Amino acid sequence: MPEFQQVFDTAPQTEASAPGRVNLLGEHTDYNDGFVLPTAIPQRTTVQLSFSSDSQHHFYSQELDQKVSISENHPTTEGFASYILGCIRVLETTGYTIPPLNLYVTSSVPMGSGLSSSAALEVATLRSLRKLLNLNIDDIQIAQFGQQAEIQYAGVQCGIMDQMASSLADTNSMLFLDTRTLYRRVLPFPAGAEILVIDSGVPRKLAGSGYNQRRGECEEGAKLLKVKALRDIADPQAVEILPEPLRRRARHVVTENNRVLQVLSGVSAIRFGELMNASHTSLRDDYEVSVPPLDTLVAMLQETPGVFGARLTGAGFGGACVALVEEGKADAIACNILTRYENAGYKGHILVPEIT
Ligand code: ADP
Ligand code: MG
Repeated sequence: MPEFQQVFDTAPQTEASAPGRVNLLGEHTDYNDGFVLPTAIPQRTTVQLSFSSDSQHHFYSQELDQKVSISENHPTTEGFASYILGCIRVLETTGYTIPPLNLYVTSSVPMGSGLSSSAALEVATLRSLRKLLNLNIDDIQIAQFGQQAEIQYAGVQCGIMDQMASSLADTNSMLFLDTRTLYRRVLPFPAGAEILVIDSGVPRKLAGSGYNQRRGECEEGAKLLKVKALRDIADPQAVEILPEPLRRRARHVVTENNRVLQVLSGVSAIRFGELMNASHTSLRDDYEVSVPPLDTLVAMLQETPGVFGARLTGAGFGGACVALVEEGKADAIACNILTRYENAGYKGHILVPEIT
């Protein structure tokens, strides 16, 4: 693949990078105004920049081997360039002047696997712009501008979790985030543990419709319980008055929020693993967003020595599983599990740790 110099016939003036993320605990809680706990993954997206010599922005993605040129004043664009142009336009709306740029993207974050390559692209873009132009913006603003870019210019109605995780967390820390107040705390990663993320190989076909249905059920449950959002319920007993299936849905949200809150006071890797296991049971039985291959994969992980806990991560109906495992053992455990998973008739692949 061509380097910056070959694509733009000049050298980069600056560069910055940002990681992808995985959510460890707090699933389907964000649209209930609740709590989430993502961490950064080792894979990163890097953005290199220089000033353009004409009146156009030029963006190149190494992964897509695609170059897009956009007139300085052209309001919108499509595809990967919309995330980047979105960041530029959001900065301009805030009052900054952004000159025409050459921008080169390269990344090891898998695209479209739920590890938030989109937020990594936005945060890396904004960080490199901050560096090149000496912009007076902080890491929280970078997350907020990235989210606005994705909503307004890429047309994705995303929450703030992904950009906050990419901007504030690293692989040694977890980001506790209250999605209602944006109160946050960077917490140390459980001692002696590392993460493993395996894609189940199951496409998330029903994810869209199932997701919207669950959102509706949560809203209905909150209304019947006379609260603004299920986040306002702390006692799982309170949901018992609801009719099924709203009772089970609300119970997941209330217990899941409580699980995330428990981590705030500091927990061991063993306790953290138990919370992840309980989260999966709740997502499977109460929230009903798991599917048999995910349950198989999670069960295989949970019964493997060296694994503290495992659960599905993301919206469910397919996608990936995350596990907390003993430090230094992720590679070996992943290979063992993938073979067993294959023998059960499925085909998964390892997302984290990075296979190079
Ligand atoms: P996820 O964020 O889970 O990886 P999304 O669908 O939200 O999945 O974002 C993926 C999109 O982000 C890609 O289709 C592409 O438009 C853009 N993107 C992310 N990383 C890159 C990259 N390295 N090069 C070009 N586009 C990228
Ligand atoms: Mg995304």
